[in-house]
Amino acid sequence: MSEKRVALLELIEKIERLGQFQDRIDSPSSIKEIWSAFLADVRNLIEIEVCALFLVDESTIEFTLKYAVPEDSAKLCRKEIDLQIECGIFSWVINRRQPALIPGLAFDKEKSIVMLPLSTVKRTLGVVLILTPIQESFITHEKMKLLTILTKECSLVMENTLLYARLKREHLSLEKANREIKLLSRTDSLTGCYNRGYLNEVLPREITRAIRYRRPLAVAMCDIDHFKKVNDNHGHQCGDEVLKQFVQSISELIRHDTDWLTRYGGEEFLLVLPETNLENAFNLADRLRKHLAHKVIETEGDKISITASFGVTGLDASQPAGAITPEAMINVVDKYLYEAKTQGRNRVIRGPISGPT
Ligand code: GH3
Ligand code: MG
Ligand code: MG
Repeated sequence: MSEKRVALLELIEKIERLGQFQDRIDSPSSIKEIWSAFLADVRNLIEIEVCALFLVDESTIEFTLKYAVPEDSAKLCRKEIDLQIECGIFSWVINRRQPALIPGLAFDKEKSIVMLPLSTVKRTLGVVLILTPIQESFITHEKMKLLTILTKECSLVMENTLLYARLKREHLSLEKANREIKLLSRTDSLTGCYNRGYLNEVLPREITRAIRYRRPLAVAMCDIDHFKKVNDNHGHQCGDEVLKQFVQSISELIRHDTDWLTRYGGEEFLLVLPETNLENAFNLADRLRKHLAHKVIETEGDKISITASFGVTGLDASQPAGAITPEAMINVVDKYLYEAKTQGRNRVIRGPISGPT
């Protein structure tokens, strides 16, 4: 075989090996994996002493060091890149999207620096800096061509990976924003407890579930006594603070996994207690009532005491529930609350779902 033919076959083999780069990197893989595979291929081509990857930081649009091999060469690589920026070679590489082979002047021309731009048609992702012990004049044109092909392959794979990571990040933040919007649309902005919208959405499901599986379900309607006076005597802002602390107190005393509280109206709240019978719901409501009556609510400059009245009713597992609507349930519990008010307030009145007699 002629020398030319041997050289040609070797070249074809090399190009084929390079072409397999993309296959070796599973998509989507990480930048680190791509970098490792790239490094291994570069090592097949030239001897390297130091090699570093600089990627464009999307927020600062600066070239920042991502990996340096060996790791303790990071400082040297940053310094070298700064030098290349200062003398204009860096921008030459970026603008022309061409690799550069520079004699390592600081090393008495015994070593060379290779700079490879990581570019796609659309943009420049970064730059690879290689410090090799080979003198500039010994690095062949063919080797530089092969390095260029390899870098182009690497740029494409990295571009896809970065794009995938960005889309994933955006998707996650969109999901988070959607969750927050949903939560906000279900919560009362002043007190943080659920709002009427949530009640209308979830109470029918709770009732259907309780009836279907014959499980107990109780509700307690609670209203702050003489709340108008709080506003009149201390101002509306103090009233708001009282509402917030009122909800906080109740929230601290209920089961977080099952019980939930909604703001039904101004100073009126509905507590929904799944898996709770009427007796236990009464006991809980009375505990809440006592706790609230003993609590001193501290607002800016004022100490305020309040009481609250409660109406309680519920579906019991032992009694046939029949068809009961959320509206009917709220109507009934409201009647018990009204009774608590008329009997003098600061009390809990409970009764069956069939309503007061
Ligand atoms: P009762 O014991 O009969 O319930 O008397 P009350 O004064 O609590 O009841 P009333 O219905 O007469 O007054 C309720 C007051 O609640 C009037 C209203 O201004 C106040 N209120 C409703 N929503 C808010 C709010 O978001 N912030 C403040 N500060 N006050 C509110
Ligand atoms: Mg009231
Ligand atoms: Mg009221």
